[in-house]
Amino acid sequence: MRHIVTKGLVLDEPLIFEVSSAGRKGVEPAVCDVPVVDAAKVIPAAMLRGANDPMAGFPEVSEIDAVRHYTRLSQWNFGVDTGFYPLGSCTMKYNPKINEDAARLEGLSAIHPYQPEELSQGALRLIYELEDYLAEISGMSAITLQPSAGAQGELTGLLMIAAYFKAKGRPRHKIIIPDTAHGTNPASSALAGFKVVPIKSESNGVLTLDAVKAVMDDDTAALMLTNPNTIGIFERNIHDIAAYVHKKGGLIYCDGANLNAIMGIMKLGEMGVDVVQFNLHKTFSTPHGGGGPGSGPVGVGKALVPFLPGPRIKKSGNKYKFVRDNPKSIGRVKAFYGNFGVMVKAYAYIRRMGPDGIRKAALTAILNANYIKESLKGTFHLPYDQPCMHECVFSDKAQSAYGVTTIDMAKRLIDYGYHPPTVYFPLVVHGAIMIEPTETETKATLDGFIETMKEIAEEARANPDLLKSAPVNTKVQRVDEVRAAREPILRWRPGA
Ligand SMILES: *Cc1c(COP(=O)(O)O)cnc(C)c1O
Repeated sequence: MRHIVTKGLVLDEPLIFEVSSAGRKGVEPAVCDVPVVDAAKVIPAAMLRGANDPMAGFPEVSEIDAVRHYTRLSQWNFGVDTGFYPLGSCTMKYNPKINEDAARLEGLSAIHPYQPEELSQGALRLIYELEDYLAEISGMSAITLQPSAGAQGELTGLLMIAAYFKAKGRPRHKIIIPDTAHGTNPASSALAGFKVVPIKSESNGVLTLDAVKAVMDDDTAALMLTNPNTIGIFERNIHDIAAYVHKKGGLIYCDGANLNAIMGIMKLGEMGVDVVQFNLHKTFSTPHGGGGPGSGPVGVGKALVPFLPGPRIKKSGNKYKFVRDNPKSIGRVKAFYGNFGVMVKAYAYIRRMGPDGIRKAALTAILNANYIKESLKGTFHLPYDQPCMHECVFSDKAQSAYGVTTIDMAKRLIDYGYHPPTVYFPLVVHGAIMIEPTETETKATLDGFIETMKEIAEEARANPDLLKSAPVNTKVQRVDEVRAAREPILRWRPGA
């Protein structure tokens, strides 16, 4: 197996300000054929560029300077279209380009949200049917597609939970969250006005009924858990836990960002879940990681349907309409109806995959994660040695004997052309290395990665200093990440 290394024609790149040359222009406008007006005479003095002009020193470059600069910068990027990206908890799978084509169809991409309903029937139908598909996949009664990210879906779900208890005349104030939760879970709960009650998972990584019983009281609104959880393990006590929480009048919130592991295999609704959010940008074919538009739909059980954000879409006969009269609704959570382009991709993906394809994707994701887990478990410490779902978590325990830590090995992976896995998360595993290969990778890619990981483990033993200074093949070596985050330089200063 030949390693890919990060070498080649990668040019050094100055800042765009440094290539600036006074008077150089990218565009030469046509000769002005109307009378020229002195800006100082028509623009108020306070708004004119002056000595303290924040735009002073703005780069002056030619068109080709600008094109080359940004094209070269784009080549420094690494994405799932460039190479293997096993970032745990993020589902960085390959997104088929045909779904991008669908989202760019003019009738879908050039549509205006204020277009009358009669002229938007196709879009309304797509939204309506996508809600139906997600309801079917998750086993929930109804879906809203409004939220634009997983975390916003969490907030939406929690606001509905708050509204539900308020409508009953008995507001509840606490949310129980296991220590394996994604950081967004406690943050969303706090934002929705709840008090967070943390609980520990067992040594085998799963939550027990006893742990829930110990903290559940009649001021607890919900248990918020992720299934499979963030160590890639299925919460097998969920049925009993849900029955108990329901008996106590509480609800179950499931963070469904890990749906890629269970879609087509099991339904969350049948597991006792009352509210769940999905990440269309993880599971359903929207690229993510670069800050582009996302979508975090929320599914609810019967009791919470009246609280869904409005407007809702109803179908009568062959016509689709918005229903704006939803008295118990928590209201809108997003302008218009959510990120429509993401919905088109999810719709195209689900239609193309069908029930069997969706199930096969999840099964393959699980198989790939278990293949990596079994192949590397003799090399790296595996804190939870049991079958995993879509991701597996190792630690740096074995390599720390040589003074090598998770960050060193993650950086070294870059030298071999891989995006590092998620590191130091989940917090319950000290020095965690969390690998999520996804279903879209071939066995050859997985084998190459496994071999590289073994080689890095050998380097940790034989040459720890090399790992401490990794990455060594890249343009920039180890950066001071803390300083970069705390003292970012956001403005170019001449001569700085
Ligand atoms: C990614 C993720 C989230 C947050 O989703 P965003 O779209 O980034 O807001 C929440 N929970 C889990 C388990 C996740 O993996």
